[in-house]
Amino acid sequence: MNKEIILANPRGFCAGVDRAIEIVEKSLEKFNEPVFVRHHVVHNKNVVEQLESKGVTFVKEVHEIPDNSIAIFSAHGVSSEVEDSAKLRKFKYFDATCPLVTKVHLEVQKHAKKGRDIILIGHKGHPEVIGTLGRHPKDSLTNIFLVETINDIEQLEVNRDNLAYVTQTTLSVDETKEIIAKLKSVYPNIIGPSADDICYATQNRQDAVKQLALESDFVIVIGSKSSSNSNRLKELAENCGTRSCLIDNPEDLDIKLLDNVKRIGITAGASAPEYIVQDLINFLKNLNFTSLRHIAGSKEDITFKLPRELID
Ligand code: SF4
Repeated sequence: MNKEIILANPRGFCAGVDRAIEIVEKSLEKFNEPVFVRHHVVHNKNVVEQLESKGVTFVKEVHEIPDNSIAIFSAHGVSSEVEDSAKLRKFKYFDATCPLVTKVHLEVQKHAKKGRDIILIGHKGHPEVIGTLGRHPKDSLTNIFLVETINDIEQLEVNRDNLAYVTQTTLSVDETKEIIAKLKSVYPNIIGPSADDICYATQNRQDAVKQLALESDFVIVIGSKSSSNSNRLKELAENCGTRSCLIDNPEDLDIKLLDNVKRIGITAGASAPEYIVQDLINFLKNLNFTSLRHIAGSKEDITFKLPRELID
């Protein structure tokens, strides 16, 4: 009997990832100087390896970037300190920070200016969180606190009367709702964005994977282990009661997991290229998954402008 592949929609690249990769590729095309990117431009092994093969060097910190080169900041954003250190150097730099992350940076600065303490909901150590914490002005009399779980809320010593929250853009929508509800019950005057800062791409891919999980016996998420939004997709499928795995490439798939699976769902994190999804479909054809069905989902037509200097 033919087995079925079901594809989630939307899946894969978001507008912020498209823009970040284009900034790197246009820089390679346009300039003779070597191109260095601080941090992996997006959290995907295949994307990083492809760009490396075209001549890009990835580094951890700005001081590793030589003068007279092109420097690029990753889509996750950087602290003010990192940006200031780049301004002092003799290289041209482009900021590939996703505009939706920049929006959160601006919220932090606005709240600090208004004298509010700020709670950032996010994952400790994630580069976006490090960048957003680092946008809190050093000379501010207010404080910024990181909250990862509901339990962290009890420990906080904040200015209850002048308090705001912001969130990382790639969190679990459901878990974040719970944390925000708790914050609002403990601090009734807390101010936040109208919904939260979770981006449209994260929201849409999470909605799509829930639907996918309901219709599948097993869900494969294409994405790297370092990708926050890809990890959330795997967790969500599992929370819906469907087994799931997160892989970079078809050859990483443990096919023993597919014993007795008749309907296999596929989705991809916001930093995972579509060609890997197509490679996986071809790989699964050899395992008799020959029928293909798409689930309809939210249409996405968001695009972000490139820096002016990189526009042809
Ligand atoms: S996942 Fe969201 S915040 Fe991150 S790059 Fe994509 S659109 Fe921007």
